[in-house]
Amino acid sequence: MTNNIKDKVVIITGASSGIGEATAKLLAAKGAKVVLGARREDKLKAIADNIAKAGGQAVYQALDVTRQDDNDAIVKLAKDSFGKVDAILLNAGIMPVSNVSALKTSEWKQMVDVNINGVLNGVAAVMPIFTAQKSGHILAVSSVAGIKAYPGTAVYGGTKWFVRDFMECLRMESAMEGTNIRTVTLYPAAINTELLTTITDEGAAQGMAGIYTAFGIAPDRIAQVVAFAFDLPEDTTVNEFTVGPAKQPW
Ligand code: NDP
Repeated sequence: MTNNIKDKVVIITGASSGIGEATAKLLAAKGAKVVLGARREDKLKAIADNIAKAGGQAVYQALDVTRQDDNDAIVKLAKDSFGKVDAILLNAGIMPVSNVSALKTSEWKQMVDVNINGVLNGVAAVMPIFTAQKSGHILAVSSVAGIKAYPGTAVYGGTKWFVRDFMECLRMESAMEGTNIRTVTLYPAAINTELLTTITDEGAAQGMAGIYTAFGIAPDRIAQVVAFAFDLPEDTTVNEFTVGPAKQPW
C-alpha cells in the first residue's frame, strides 16, 4: 500500500477543535508534518503535545484567518520548521445561524469574514509557493449548506456556496495554467464538534442541537476522507466529497 501522506507538510486552519483537530491527529499518525493554526493557542499546544507524544510531528501558531499577516506567518512557520509546504486545509469556520428576519447583521459580517475572507487569505498565502513549485493541495471545508438551501442558514450557506464556486474555479484554472494545484472541497453534514457553540439565536440553537443529537457523527470521519484524498497519486484529483451520518437525510 502506498503512503503519499508521509512527510507531507500540511497546514491546518481551525486546528484547535473538531474537524481540524481530528484531521491533524490522523494525518500526523500517518506521517504528515502538521502545522496547526487557530486563535486558541493553549488548545493548539495541547494537541501538538499529544501528537508529539504519539510519535508525530506538529508545530503551531496563533492564527486569526481574517488577518492576512497571520496567514502569511503560518506559511512561513511551515517553511521554517519543515522546509516546504505541500498542502493547506482551509477549515476554520463559524456557524452563528439564524433567520434573516432576526437581522443579526454583525454575525453575517463575521461569517463572511471568517468563512470567506479566511479562505481567500489562506489561498493567497500559499499560492505563490504552490505556483512556483508546480504542486500543492488546497482543501476547503464547505458544508452540505453549500450545496443545498436550508432555512436559517441563508448567510452561513452563502459563505459555503462561495467556497464551492471558488474552489471549482481554482481547480479549473490550475489545470489550464499547468500548475498542478489540486483542490478538494468537503461538504460535511452533522459532525459533532464545537461548531454549535457559535450560535446565539435560541430557536436556531435548539433546532440544530436536535439534529446533531439525532444524527451527529465524530469528526474523525472527515479526517479519514481528507487522508484518502491525500493518499492519491500526484496526477489524480478527487475534488468533492459530501460526507455525513448515514442516518441523516440532510
Ligand atoms: P469547531 O467549532 O469545533 O472548529 C472550528 C475551528 O475554527 C476552531 O478550531 C476555531 O478555533 C477555528 N476558528 C474560528 N474562527 C477562527 C478565526 N477567525 N481564525 C482562525 N481559526 C478560527 O467546528 P468544526 O470542526 O465543525 O468546524 C470546522 C469547519 O467545518 C467549519 O468551516 C465549519 O463550517 C465546517 N462544517 C462543520 C460541520 C459540522 O457539522 N460540524 C458541517 C459542515 C461544515 P479558535 O476558536 O481557537 O480560533
